[in-house]
Amino acid sequence: MKISKGKVVSMHYALTDVTGEVLDSSEGQAPLDYLHGYGNIIAGLEKALEDKEAGEKLKAVIPPEDGYGIREEALVKNLPLSSFQSPDEVELGAQFQAETSEGPRLATVTKIEDKTVTVDLNHPLADQTLSFDIDVVDVRDATEEELAHGHVHGPKGHGH
Ligand code: ZN
Repeated sequence: MKISKGKVVSMHYALTDVTGEVLDSSEGQAPLDYLHGYGNIIAGLEKALEDKEAGEKLKAVIPPEDGYGIREEALVKNLPLSSFQSPDEVELGAQFQAETSEGPRLATVTKIEDKTVTVDLNHPLADQTLSFDIDVVDVRDATEEELAHGHVHGPKGHGH
């Protein structure tokens, strides 16, 4: 069965940056399952996996525009410390989900000065060319429930 929109793909992966450093990998864990064609993984990786089958191995080199995007200085913001729910917990390097006009984004605290906190809403992997080594383990049809939700459900389903 070939990978196309509406298939659930199970794969092992290793993600490395341009220097060859491993950033993330499924090694030693269960393979990653995702619903293909619904934007659950980065666009460049979906493109590379299209039409592949179980048992295939592939390498995909993905430019930032098809990965986690180009860094935008406009996404670096200065906020008053008093605008944080728990000002005591704001520290350098802390990460939290921030609500933005484009939906939730991961924010990283990059500077704290007096009563002003600088947060960076760029994805930590923005601007990076990513190299994936993929091992396609399984491809199956999604269930109707998975298609309706737009994401994969575990072997026992989940309650929502
Ligand atoms: Zn669901």
